[in-house]
Amino acid sequence: MSRRLGCELISVLLSLSFAMIVREQSVCAPHPQAIAKAFHWPTGKRVAVSLSFDDARRSQVDRGLDVLNPTGVKVTFFVVPRNVKQRLEGWKRAVASGHEIGNHSLTHPCSGNFPFSLHNALENYTWEQIAQNVDGANAEIQQLLGVHMVTFAYPCGQKFVGRGRQVKSYVPLIAERFLVGRGFSDEYFNDPAFCDLAQASGTVSDNLEYTQMVNLISRAATQGSWIIFAGHEIGEKGFQTTDASALAALCKYIQDPANGVWVDTVENIGRYIQQQRAGRGK
Ligand SMILES: [Zn+2]
Repeated sequence: MSRRLGCELISVLLSLSFAMIVREQSVCAPHPQAIAKAFHWPTGKRVAVSLSFDDARRSQVDRGLDVLNPTGVKVTFFVVPRNVKQRLEGWKRAVASGHEIGNHSLTHPCSGNFPFSLHNALENYTWEQIAQNVDGANAEIQQLLGVHMVTFAYPCGQKFVGRGRQVKSYVPLIAERFLVGRGFSDEYFNDPAFCDLAQASGTVSDNLEYTQMVNLISRAATQGSWIIFAGHEIGEKGFQTTDASALAALCKYIQDPANGVWVDTVENIGRYIQQQRAGRGK
């Protein structure tokens, strides 16, 4: 073989292998735009936002409904039945106003490392006990408010029972029973094309300024995500409190069509995601 022919052969082989590498890459790593196009929010919307509040704290109905209702924004309240009983008329008003009521368990078990949960510790729970706790809340809320709850928020954002080699995730139990299970204080937003609805992320709204909440939404919008805010008290600035005036301003921001935000309950956005995925065969 002449030297020139050899060089030409090497050059052909090189370009062939380059083409194969390019082809290989296109199979393994879809172009980012292809991923973005796989999921569509409703027309004109770039990001989805849900507002949620946990524990059925009194301030949610005593103060929160008067902040939220005039804005028309519907939120999700993840309730504990014993707290609902303390403001039953207020909670009936929340239901009549179109807000969603979600399950937050019967007795709010968390790790026993929280002093308030030492005698109701997830480390000491079995799978059967957590199932009874979750189902018990559904039965009580059905009786108190006539609502069948379809979403869940993990108390303290914790998703396990037991300890050591006997630890079990109770995410599958929530997946069997609910459309969405929300965590707490998570560091990422929900990718609607990918996220596991049984452990959707929750972003803390307590103690945030209005601009901090808007910045979080703007960041989520760059990824086309779903952000689920999670708060506790609604009122003046303080421990575990979503600031009422910041909340009122936020409701205005998320309802301004120019901002491309779809705001709705955890159930409604969860259903939309489920339907979009079903529509494309996943
Ligand atoms: Zn809680």
